[in-house]
Amino acid sequence: MPMQSREVRLVRRPQGTPVPEDFALAVTEVGAPGEGEVQVRNLFMAVDPAMRGRMDDAPSYVPPFVLDAAMEGPAVGEVVASNDPAFAPGDLVFHRLGWREAFNAPGSALQKRDGSALPPQAYLGFAGMTGLTAYAGLLRVGGLKPGDVVFVSAASGGVGSLVCQIAKLKGHKVIGSAGGAHKAAYLRDELGLDGVIDYKAEPNLTKALAREVKAIGAKGIDLYFDNVGGDHLHAALALANPFARFAICGMISQYNAAGHVSPPRNLTLIMGKRIRMEGFIAFDHHDLDQHLVADMTAWHKAGLLKASETVYDGIDQALSAFLGLFDGRNLGRTLVRLG
Ligand code: NDP
Repeated sequence: MPMQSREVRLVRRPQGTPVPEDFALAVTEVGAPGEGEVQVRNLFMAVDPAMRGRMDDAPSYVPPFVLDAAMEGPAVGEVVASNDPAFAPGDLVFHRLGWREAFNAPGSALQKRDGSALPPQAYLGFAGMTGLTAYAGLLRVGGLKPGDVVFVSAASGGVGSLVCQIAKLKGHKVIGSAGGAHKAAYLRDELGLDGVIDYKAEPNLTKALAREVKAIGAKGIDLYFDNVGGDHLHAALALANPFARFAICGMISQYNAAGHVSPPRNLTLIMGKRIRMEGFIAFDHHDLDQHLVADMTAWHKAGLLKASETVYDGIDQALSAFLGLFDGRNLGRTLVRLG
């Protein structure tokens, strides 16, 4: 008996901030899996800011989404039926066929995960690409070293909240920025950050960062983990200590900009302060996967890691989950429960 699966398709390339009319929820039939194929029912999918880039028809490190087809993205699911001897019904699998409830795919599109070690959605968060982004960005690209004062933007989000926690677990002073009083309270009370900025309540972000740096008795910041760009990058440049490292993970403040975006006007500070600024993409750092999963699992089991999540229910809420990345509604990793 074929089963029905709902999926979210991109039907028009957004101009600026995406609107519901750019997408459609469609129903497909998933028949029995073919030779070498595996049938999967998704349990959770994740939404990422980088998906916004794939909605444009522009050159990037990943190809654009195809119009009138289901979008792609990280998800975990359960094997329902299998014509590939490497997979059996009940297996937990990670794959990139999110934005749909169920599908058939060759076994090569799936990676098995240990469903007994961690909750399934952990493989979309701290034990998956989000974790790897935080881990590799902070420790390898940022080169975290003893005594570093760390500044993190979008600090209450999926990546940011993990960066803050890893830096705290390693004994660092951490200043985090997020939008809104409840997110500021989360950073201070739940994650135990040393300095907190509610950037939506600050008329001048550079002055706010200077205030927080002074309050912790530091001269400046040594490592900036950039998720936002724009004014946050400007403030970080202004408060950087000599030889600071900037791990450029994302610049979400610019993803929905329709036209030209001006760079921070104090970029020349890179030279005088001898700042090392390095962009990175998490998938270049898969050699760290084993360390990531070992460290994250140990911290998780010891109760040292807060895996904060905002979970939406049902594929019909997936678009809302995605748009929530940009309007500040979501805290922690943003997931959609599908199963
Ligand atoms: P988040 O869970 O952090 O969600 C995005 C957050 O960004 C929101 O919660 C929001 O928090 C904040 N935000 C949105 N718009 C603005 C704005 N205009 N100014 C300031 N803050 C804003 O998403 P992820 O953890 O998935 O991603 C975080 C960053 O990491 C993104 O830039 C993403 O592109 C990047 N990334 C990069 C990867 C890489 O390999 N380089 C891999 C994965 C992610 P608030 O309410 O505080 O504004």
